[in-house]
Amino acid sequence: MNIINARLRGKEGLFRVELDGERIAAIAPLSSPSNPAVGDLDAGGNLVTAPFIEPHIHLDATLTAGEPNWNMTGTLFEGIERWAERKATVTHEDTKTRAKKTIDMLVDHGIQHVRTHVDVTDPSLAALKAMVEVRDETRHLINLQIVAFPQEGIESFAGGRALMEEAIAIGADVVGGIPHFENTREQGVSSVKFLMDLAERKDLLVDVHCDETDDPQSRFLEVLAEEARIRGMGARVTASHTTAMGSYDNAYCSKLFRLLKQSEINFISCPTESIHLQGRFDSYPKRRGLTRVAEIDRAGMNICFAQDSIVDPWYPLGNGNIMRILEAGLHICHMLGYEDLQRGLDLITDNSARTLNLGEGYGIEVGRPANLLILSAPNDYEMIRTQGHALASIRNGKLLMQRTPSRVERC
Ligand SMILES: [Zn+2]
Repeated sequence: MNIINARLRGKEGLFRVELDGERIAAIAPLSSPSNPAVGDLDAGGNLVTAPFIEPHIHLDATLTAGEPNWNMTGTLFEGIERWAERKATVTHEDTKTRAKKTIDMLVDHGIQHVRTHVDVTDPSLAALKAMVEVRDETRHLINLQIVAFPQEGIESFAGGRALMEEAIAIGADVVGGIPHFENTREQGVSSVKFLMDLAERKDLLVDVHCDETDDPQSRFLEVLAEEARIRGMGARVTASHTTAMGSYDNAYCSKLFRLLKQSEINFISCPTESIHLQGRFDSYPKRRGLTRVAEIDRAGMNICFAQDSIVDPWYPLGNGNIMRILEAGLHICHMLGYEDLQRGLDLITDNSARTLNLGEGYGIEVGRPANLLILSAPNDYEMIRTQGHALASIRNGKLLMQRTPSRVERC
């Protein structure tokens, strides 16, 4: 299969991308728009990119909003209560069915790489076992990384450490944590040391729910970054949320940024979820409840956007479309300046790939996997402005999905 009349990010002109089986075989410039041969896909002058990435989602909780009760206040705390009611009725098949339905929604929007956090503060580890099966059964659609996520803590949950070890033994790919939720500062610090030891010992990636609160005293990011720096593991470590950074004062932040840069860790922000759940203890002025996305980016550090939730007790909306998150995030983070719009897709493609350590398994380059998208616009700016879509998603050289753009007829 070949794709003709493709525009590539960062390059001038049109290209023909040749696929040979499961690899990209050649990328050749075209002197003028060419006519498709039989079996060719015509990008029509639009962008061809590597697949979109969903780097932070909770597939074990998706599609449960309103079951049995809706979150009436929309707060994080009522969400936890509503989830406790739903969690009591979760079964193996129920988890798998909802996760697969959600994966289909992601695939429909051009996503082929997903990192999901799975709650392991459950002595049966039922959701984790279900998700390990889902990972195998959906390999033709996505690459799925599973994070062992201790929703109720490692140190403050009975048997928390043993459950983390067991989750890794069962097949989780990434070590998670939630230090700001532990009962004390000391437990938060020791949970980070424990999870970093575990990841180092098992040679695994790390992704911690870190300081997901408006409390400016929640300062576990410095602990995570320092542990990553000392161990030389930064590129393999991710701090998710870090929303407290939006409430840190500038003096502390300037010192913190020196450490963050040295540590080389990655960041994930979930802009729609955070603006919805944070700022809830404020009257006015009301904080946005996000981490310092633009500042992290400007400082040369790696940050990407994620959806976090789709129709669950914490967030009632969502449809799998990561472009929606990108658009909201750029607004919320004051990133609609010219330069940001020229490279906006970085936040849902290349930056996310670096976070997930996809390496040479990602990107439009000869020899890499034939995983790519045809988008509905010729550049990042137009893709964002027009609320564009992935029109085709190709995986291992085969079409996964094609979308017909909606048509308007003037009368
Ligand atoms: Zn999360």
